[in-house]
Amino acid sequence: MEVLKTVNLKKTYQVSSGEVQALRGVNISIMEGEFVAIVGSSGSGKTTLLNMLGGLDKPSEGSVYVRGERLENMDSEELTIFRRRNIGFVFQNYNLLPILNVYENITLPIRLDGMGVDEGFLKHITGRLKLSEKLYHMPETLSGGQQQRVAIARALSAKPAVLLCDEPTGNLDSVTGMEVVGLLKSSAYEFQQTIVIVTHNEEIAQMADRIIRIEDGKVKGDAYEE
Ligand code: ADP
Ligand code: MG
Repeated sequence: MEVLKTVNLKKTYQVSSGEVQALRGVNISIMEGEFVAIVGSSGSGKTTLLNMLGGLDKPSEGSVYVRGERLENMDSEELTIFRRRNIGFVFQNYNLLPILNVYENITLPIRLDGMGVDEGFLKHITGRLKLSEKLYHMPETLSGGQQQRVAIARALSAKPAVLLCDEPTGNLDSVTGMEVVGLLKSSAYEFQQTIVIVTHNEEIAQMADRIIRIEDGKVKGDAYEE
């Protein structure tokens, strides 16, 4: 089943010196359960593409479909709810709330959605992500790798169909980065989740099933890995 699709996706930013064409007609299709890496030089449009896939920003032209639903057809409230239920985000800087402990951070999206916490599932993913001993610790007492694992657990906690990760290992050393992505990959496989990960790191990209190369706002390569 197709989970993500873009059709002739374009994004132009207005800047004081004129316009920046960040995306110039991107057509991609990603199936359920795929683990896709998006690579490309700085400024090529990777973050813009990821933000469009997740409905964090609106296209200038073209469309984005998530599980067959066209995001541009939703109003902002519908989009917020759709996003919370279907899409998990992981960013480079973790974005944990410092005043909440690990458990509270992880369960925040579920509680915001007014749903009950599935304690069994939570125990399972925090175990997999090696966070069982850290549930009642505050984020500032954790290492970078641990904080990113909390952010991943939070992203997985609502069992989203899609996980969008923008340079998730950008602040981690390479061994920790590989470990974090390995855990991300095995957790997502277990639950048939689709992962799209933007990365600069070639070793991390090689862990994916498929590598999409973006250059100058266009897809310049799309290959399945052996
Ligand atoms: P990448 O993530 O591959 O480094 P981005 O998607 O962040 O690339 O940026 C693509 C292009 O769009 C760059 O030229 C960048 O400067 C520009 N850009 C990104 N976001 C904005 C914005 N909010 N306003 C203006 N220009 C932007
Ligand atoms: Mg970026």
